[in-house]
Amino acid sequence: MSSKIKSVNGFRIWDSRGRPTVEVEVQLESGAIGLGIAPAGASRGSNEAIDLRDGGTAHGGFGVDRAVANVNGPIRQALIGLDAIDQAMLDAVLIERDGTANKSVLGGNAIVATSMAMLKAAAAAQQQSVWRYLSAAEDVTLPLPQVQIFGGGAHAGRRTDIQDFLVMPVGAQSFDHAMVICADIYRAAGQIMLAKGAQCGVADEGGWWPNFDSNEQALETLTRSIDQAGYGHGQALIALDIAASEFGRNGRYRLALDQHEYDTDAWLELVSRWVARYPIISIEDPVAEDDQVGMQKITTALGHRIQIIGDDFLVTNAQRVTDAQKSGACNAVLIKPNQAGTITETLATFRCAKSLDWGTIVSARSGETEDTLIAHLAVGLAAGQLKVGSFARSERMAKWNECLRIERSGDVAVRPFSAKVLPVPVPVPVLTLSPAASGPSLPAT
Ligand code: PGA
Ligand code: ZN
Repeated sequence: MSSKIKSVNGFRIWDSRGRPTVEVEVQLESGAIGLGIAPAGASRGSNEAIDLRDGGTAHGGFGVDRAVANVNGPIRQALIGLDAIDQAMLDAVLIERDGTANKSVLGGNAIVATSMAMLKAAAAAQQQSVWRYLSAAEDVTLPLPQVQIFGGGAHAGRRTDIQDFLVMPVGAQSFDHAMVICADIYRAAGQIMLAKGAQCGVADEGGWWPNFDSNEQALETLTRSIDQAGYGHGQALIALDIAASEFGRNGRYRLALDQHEYDTDAWLELVSRWVARYPIISIEDPVAEDDQVGMQKITTALGHRIQIIGDDFLVTNAQRVTDAQKSGACNAVLIKPNQAGTITETLATFRCAKSLDWGTIVSARSGETEDTLIAHLAVGLAAGQLKVGSFARSERMAKWNECLRIERSGDVAVRPFSAKVLPVPVPVPVLTLSPAASGPSLPAT
């Protein structure tokens, strides 16, 4: 049966923030269908592919009529009759047709949804799930999750300066076990917030709304939550997405909640103190995207002990990953398909990072949908880690649950996660008889 593209149709649907987004359906001559939906970020790197929005007053300016029209016009025109199996060729056609470095003509949202849909259609044509189709000769494994417990920054009215307070269940024996650990910690954190009278619902990605007096209090509460849930630090550790571009610029870091401004060195000293005091294993965007020197400094100081991830700093761009590695900045990269704009560019960044022995973390955006492609990418590429937000809201759970389905298919070699997926060694578990005794020593409050 022919895997030639028969139709490409774009539609407006809605994301998890109630904003319009682009859905693309690609149908092949064989009848195989693929559906791709563009997610949307709120704390975006300035070098990402750009979503085309209509502006004006309708939908708060977030309309996607022009992006959808581009799918149903020039994109459809360029793709009909081409072979869906050749993803690199198809994405090259889209890139060429757009003609800009940031995909601002056709729109990153129009392009990525189309690219995702073509990948799914190609897998369907082979009668394979996407993760299996992607894995081909490669190693396959379930990812270690990063699950958000408190969501701050641009996802919670800037209630905290730091954006994501997450846990990584490093001692999990399976994906199912990883989910249980994260659920227990999420629940414990909710109970602590409730007892303090500080529970105010959830933020954009489902993490508890962070009602704290300081950024450090959130860290302390997260540590307490892990402890209260009965997990030692061989089982669950903390990851932060500081998303520092949201409050840092030109070497100055202005923390609104803490009412303090730091220069790069003083800021990194504070971050290093947090790493010494709390069970932190991973930090994303510890400095702003314009702070090249700061990223080199923190990688030199802490990169042998913890994972240093570039998100806004690297924007899923292979050249940026190469440059960062040469300059000694970061040891891991967040992989967001809509930052790159096409599946091919996403895969190129992933392969580049792997060739450098970096950590790779496939990631959702804060504006998401029921699309589960990123779960398939994380498994099929054996990325090692997956970050999709918290343990609530179905646009998040759709991805976690998809990994559970893949795991229970019995088709996957489930390996112990731990050190294999992090570019740094995970601390050796400390075994104690009492779970409560295995917690960290907390600073006096
Ligand atoms: P965003 O945030 O999707 O709002 O950009 C996610 C992240 O920073 O990882
Ligand atoms: Zn980030």
